[in-house]
Formats: sequence, structure tokens, C-alpha cells
Amino acid sequence: MPFPKKPFPKAKINRILKKELRRDLSFRSGKIIGSMCSDPPAFCARIFRRYIEKNLGDPGLCPGTAEIERRAVEMLGSLLGNPSAAGVFTTGGTEANILALLTAKKLSASNQREVILSDCAHFSFRKAAEMMDLKLIFIPHKEDFSIDVEAAAAAISENTLALIGIAGTTGTGAVDDIPALGALAEKHGVYLHTDAAFGGFVLPFLEKAGFPSKPFDFSVPGVSSVTIDPHKMGRGLTPGGCILYRSAEIAGRVAFPVSYLSGGETEHLTLVGTRSGAAVLANWAQILRLGESGYIKIVRKSMSLARSLAGRLDRIDGIRCVKEPQLNVVAFCSTKIANEILSERLRAKGWAISFFGEYLRIVIMPHVTEKTVRRFLKDLQKITETENG
Ligand code: PLP
Repeated sequence: MPFPKKPFPKAKINRILKKELRRDLSFRSGKIIGSMCSDPPAFCARIFRRYIEKNLGDPGLCPGTAEIERRAVEMLGSLLGNPSAAGVFTTGGTEANILALLTAKKLSASNQREVILSDCAHFSFRKAAEMMDLKLIFIPHKEDFSIDVEAAAAAISENTLALIGIAGTTGTGAVDDIPALGALAEKHGVYLHTDAAFGGFVLPFLEKAGFPSKPFDFSVPGVSSVTIDPHKMGRGLTPGGCILYRSAEIAGRVAFPVSYLSGGETEHLTLVGTRSGAAVLANWAQILRLGESGYIKIVRKSMSLARSLAGRLDRIDGIRCVKEPQLNVVAFCSTKIANEILSERLRAKGWAISFFGEYLRIVIMPHVTEKTVRRFLKDLQKITETENG
């Protein structure tokens, strides 16, 4: 499509959009079962639309919005065991994880360039390593898909820049032993970042929802920063990530001074410059709207469905769950046909499911219902019967 010489009529633009976007899947279709995002709640979306012009890249222009962001950070800090945490909203977990390693780098000596992390870590760390020329030391996961802490301990040296703990891995929702990693971090004086992009809005509510939880946040000594994403289980909208640091002093290491803005001199804690203030306001509003009791309800429902789905998957001949769901993530594999074939067959039936090579993944987000699960299981049963012969 060439650059337009003249303005297009609005109706024509709308026609193009309608036609092209017909192919897009919507959360309402009941077919998206492999995403860690969900449909934005109406209240949250209305706030986003109302304040769409807010730009937190120039916070002097919108001091009110900046104040709400400060309150949102404080609120998330108190959820994660540290009301005096400092931090910033980001475009998502990727930006937050990159910022964590940038912060660790700023705090370290020049020879310290090795990052120790599980082989289940999200690809954002690979992006960070490429950008900052870091060396990633991948530690094999244990049977429960959490990091082998002994192997992580053995990998620590004078070149270690940071340790990464994951509170809810992307593939299986496994939670690393963060207290053990925290003890290592303290013993060796190493920066420890918890990636709770997914688990940050699940783990704090698990016990009250009737499921076992694990310590992962600032309550664990040695944790220097945490990623938590409102646009995942925070039930907010995109873009909605957040990085929190244990102290303003640590956050200050990554602050970038900017002098020329029309709102006046400021500091950026983000990688991006111009950024959506509306998204911050909408995600803050959504957290207030749900409160602890709202999140407990969401977590209870998602966890119950995840556990029940896992049980039903295990009863299908030729299917095996790779792990009992610790969070609302269900990973399973085929024992008779290649996982790749299974994933292709499911996708051919319209299922938007994630494929990780050794297993497939379903995330029981709030839009995934019992009805969706039943339809999925019916299709899966048919495919396995046909393919298994
Ligand atoms: N960390 C974990 C554990 C994730 O599962 C994801 C995304 O799935 C990310 C980080 C990256 O988040 P985003 O896609 O919001 O950048």
C-alpha cells in the first residue's frame, strides 16, 4: 500500500479495517486458550478511552496522571510485601525484565556479565542479553519445571551479574524456589530479580482462594526487583506491565535525566520515552475496582478450572499433563503422536493454543470458561482417536 496522496474517506478506512480484521481472533470467540492476556473489562476500557491523550513520557504535562502512577506503584508494592517499593509501569513484562537487567548492570562491576536463569525463562531475557551483551547461563529445570537451585549455586562466580527467579513460568506456570535463590543472592551479594509477570497477580491470592502458594516477592530477603503485569492476571489492559524495585535508591540507578520537555525537567525509569498514561490510569482503576476479594474470586475460578481440566486431560488416552498446575497454566503432551501434529490439528480446528515443542499450553484466563474447556476436550478427544488409530 503506497503512502496516501490524499485523505481517505472515513467510511473507506472503516471498510478496510472491517474486512482485514475479520481474520483476527477475539477473546469473545471462545477459541483463545493459549494467551496470557484477556478481554479488557468495559470499565477499564472506558477509562482508557477517556484519558487517551495522557503521555507519561512528559509527566510535567500531566502531574495528576503521574501521581496516580505513583499510587499504583505503591499499591502494587504493598501487594508484593514492600509498600515503599519504587518503580514504574512499562509496556509489559519484556520491558520490565530488560529494565531489571539494565539496573543490575548499572549496579555491577564491568566484568560481571553473566546472568543465571532457568531454561524455562521467558525470551525477554534473551532480548536483554543481546542488547547488553550479557551471557545467559541456562540452568536445567527439575522435574517440577522449577530451577535446579543447586546447579544455579554452582554456576555463581565473580562474573555473575544477576540471578533470575521465575514466579510462574511461561510454559507451565512453575514457581522457582525464590527463598533459596534469595539466600544465594544474599550470600554472594548478587542481584536477584523475580519475574512474576504472570504469577504476580495469582500467588498473593492463592491461599485465600484455597490453593497452596509460595513466597516470591519482597518478603523474600535478597529479592531486588519484581516484574508484575497488570495486563496478564491483573485483569487490566495492554500495555500494562510494571517493574518494582526494593528501594528508590536501586530504581534511581536506572533513572535517565531528560531536560527539554515542555512539562519541565524529569527522569525516565522506562526504556521507552512517550508512553500511555491512559493505560496506567485504566490499570490502576481496574485494580481498585477488583480489590483483594475480586482477585481471590478470579484466582479461585481460574485455578479450579485449571485443576479440573488437568484431571480430564489425564483421562484421555494418549494425553498426559506434564505437571500438576501450580498456577492457572495447564501444560500437556501427547504420548502417541508428535506434539507438533497435535498442535497443528488443534489449530486447524480454530484453537489458539500455545506450542512449546515438548508440550502444549493452555492458560485459564478469565475469558476461558467451562463451556470452552468442554468444547476443547471434545475436539481433542476426536483428534486423538483419529490419529491414534
Ligand atoms: N515473563 C513471563 C514469565 C511471561 O510469561 C511473559 C509473557 O508471556 C513475559 C515475561 C513477557 O511479557 P510481555 O509479553 O508482556 O512483554
